[in-house]
Amino acid sequence: MADLSNLYRQIIMDHYKNPRNKGLTNDLSYVKCHIKNPSCGDAIDIESKVIDGKVVDVRQDGVGCSICCASASIMSETVIGLSVEDATNLIENYLKMVSNDETYDHTVDFGELGVFEGIKDFPARVRCASIASKAFLNTLKKEN
Ligand code: ZN
Repeated sequence: MADLSNLYRQIIMDHYKNPRNKGLTNDLSYVKCHIKNPSCGDAIDIESKVIDGKVVDVRQDGVGCSICCASASIMSETVIGLSVEDATNLIENYLKMVSNDETYDHTVDFGELGVFEGIKDFPARVRCASIASKAFLNTLKKEN
């Protein structure tokens, strides 16, 4: 993370130390997905709950590096309250942005997830910043 700006590093460390929406409900009204990143030892579970086409709750749990855990925390905060359509669009574009796919929609407001833009310069960490968001997308697909 040496080349990420100080502000971005602070946001990432804040979410790593004080994770939001942490801990699973194991409630049947949530859809769950588990994803591992063997290269880094990251393992994340995501639960999402959708009511009337809106993401009303997201829970995250797991172990991993600061990038992985912070991205799960920030992602959960970012998508709660969005429609399934907006959340899907935001996360699909986020995944393109961090994997250095310049075709992502630059008009999307990524909120705090924007702190991970610099990850594209660290190919070994792209998966760390992606797995929680991929798991979340999977829960939405199962939901529909
Ligand atoms: Zn990692």
